[in-house]
Amino acid sequence: MTTEVQLSSLYQQVILEHYRHPKNKGDLEEATVTIFMENPTCGDEIRLQLRVEEDRIADARFVGSGCSISQASVSMMTQLLKGKELSEADALAKRFTELMHGDESAGKDRSLKDLRALQGVSKFPVRIKCALLGFDALEEALKRTRAGDTEEE
Ligand code: ZN
Repeated sequence: MTTEVQLSSLYQQVILEHYRHPKNKGDLEEATVTIFMENPTCGDEIRLQLRVEEDRIADARFVGSGCSISQASVSMMTQLLKGKELSEADALAKRFTELMHGDESAGKDRSLKDLRALQGVSKFPVRIKCALLGFDALEEALKRTRAGDTEEE
């Protein structure tokens, strides 16, 4: 599916690079939590897997299909998750959600790295769900990890 979202060409390139060559794509051996999420309005699907050791994300991988924004976003996200404490992953999800809701200070936040390329998506409400899909999966994964309820549905 092509995206009709008008983003600056530099940001468009970063997004397409992640879409064509996603980071951390594939099955994760010894995952401690697996979450499937879909965005029916666009047809995006993501299965996110984390391996959490102690209170830290030791590894993160995903498989999925859908538009470039959804797949690039989750690719960028997994890049940032490895080695993060659960509370840091929460903070990342919160910050990115703020970016999608038009918070300009989040757009200058270097901790978001490549995710900042998605800032322009905040102007297109229909596509915000695409960009947040991976983070919705992350938040559910963190919630279940804390609850000790990590059986795949
Ligand atoms: Zn989408």
